[in-house]
Amino acid sequence: MIPALIVDGRNNHDWRATTPLLKQDLEATGLFTVSIVTAPAHNDQMPTFRLDFSRYRLVALNYTDLGNGGEWPAETKLAFVNYVTSGGGVVVFHAASSAFPNWRQYNEITGLGGWGDRDQRAGPYVYFKNGKEVRDDSPGPGGHHGERHSFEIVIRDPNHPITKGLPHEWIHTKDELYDHLRGPAENLFILATAYSDPATGGSGRDEPVLFTVLYGKGRVFQTTLGHDPEAMKGVAFIVTFQRGAEWAATGRVTLPAPKTFPGAHAVRIRP
Ligand code: ZN
Repeated sequence: MIPALIVDGRNNHDWRATTPLLKQDLEATGLFTVSIVTAPAHNDQMPTFRLDFSRYRLVALNYTDLGNGGEWPAETKLAFVNYVTSGGGVVVFHAASSAFPNWRQYNEITGLGGWGDRDQRAGPYVYFKNGKEVRDDSPGPGGHHGERHSFEIVIRDPNHPITKGLPHEWIHTKDELYDHLRGPAENLFILATAYSDPATGGSGRDEPVLFTVLYGKGRVFQTTLGHDPEAMKGVAFIVTFQRGAEWAATGRVTLPAPKTFPGAHAVRIRP
């Protein structure tokens, strides 16, 4: 079994509701044993928040300090960077990409993020246009989403272990679709995008929703999906999260592409 850790305790989202679903999804694979560590609720206790990441092969981040003073102490940050550099796997879940805007290595590890006063200093916008990846250095804020809605996701790399065998496109459950993400984007590989429609307040671009980052010997999978439990009910969210977690932890995916995966015409919900 692969030891996995979910980190939560601070988020501008309902981490108390979403962490149990992440745990359930990981355990349902039969591959992971899952621990949870919750950061202290009070900022004056944050200096005591120490984590031994080296005991784990997967760290799933359901954490953001955005606007709540939950910056980790220096020892914990260093331990996290050492964990990834030496080959640890990471899943960056939804709002975790907005954490720690001023921590350079964290942004290198997550690849792209938003909010937290991110702008052109964070790195380029990365998106698809006319079927090609674009890295856009134009100035402007990082991080935005339009109205919550159900949207189509398109695979851009069908040969990656995470996406291999999945339908080329599918309809995702009602969720936020992040746009205008920007960051260092080094060793970043986009697996899937979704068209962010101006009609729902979006960017008019094909925005990255699933992508990987290689950092040192570590593997990072980011899913921008999963705003709330409703958005996490979709089979496609669950399957891509599970496969991304296995790949981040081991470099392979043994989980089969399920027959219940949605196609281009209907959303499929967790039974
Ligand atoms: Zn959200």
